[in-house]
Amino acid sequence: MELPEKIIFHLITTCFMHSFIFATNNQHKVAEIRSILENRFDIISLKDAGIHIDIPEPHNTLHENATEKSSTIFRLTGKDCFSEDTGLEVEALNGEPGVKSARYAGEDGNFTNNINKLLHELGPNPNRKARFRTVISLILNGKEFLFEGICNGTITETTSGIGGFGYDPVFIPDGSNKTFAEMSMEEKNSFSHRKKATALLVAFLNERYGQDKN
Ligand code: IMP
Repeated sequence: MELPEKIIFHLITTCFMHSFIFATNNQHKVAEIRSILENRFDIISLKDAGIHIDIPEPHNTLHENATEKSSTIFRLTGKDCFSEDTGLEVEALNGEPGVKSARYAGEDGNFTNNINKLLHELGPNPNRKARFRTVISLILNGKEFLFEGICNGTITETTSGIGGFGYDPVFIPDGSNKTFAEMSMEEKNSFSHRKKATALLVAFLNERYGQDKN
């Protein structure tokens, strides 16, 4: 049986790539990280690894939650892996929802309810300053390394756009007049917290393994 060229190319390239399990069930995050890494590394989602668990985020900091997720997967698999935890920190709300961003309006993590609660809490407040902060926890050969990325911006008064996920329809990054939800993934990546944290991760891996030896 002849394998299509695309599959053969994928098999050959992934054989030589360093693999990491990305400890998330959020397929939007998997797509964004893969697009940022541009096939430089083989990123295996929990689903692809056949791991069907919901890793709890019980801590009060992004750093501790990221560590919880990566170390849980490392304990289960013994493989190189990484996780990330992200929070939206709104200045006029004293940094809320922050580490509670996913469950701001309740345990089910519903994006629409979270946005509605955020706009309600902020009301007509003229101070709309906010930032996304991402912490990545990498476990490489059993040792943890942390990377952080921040994207400053403002919260809109109403939602705009249908792309992305989470709070994207109400967040405009500094330097743009569009919400993340109005951008293509590539455009969001040119501003995003996740891109900045991932760039530090990639620089670290390049230093470890050299540009051409993933
Ligand atoms: P967690 O990192 O999965 O705990 O996500 C925290 C919350 O922030 C979730 O509600 C996500 O939907 C939201 N979130 C994380 N990253 C982004 C992003 O890039 N844009 C918009 N919302 C995000």
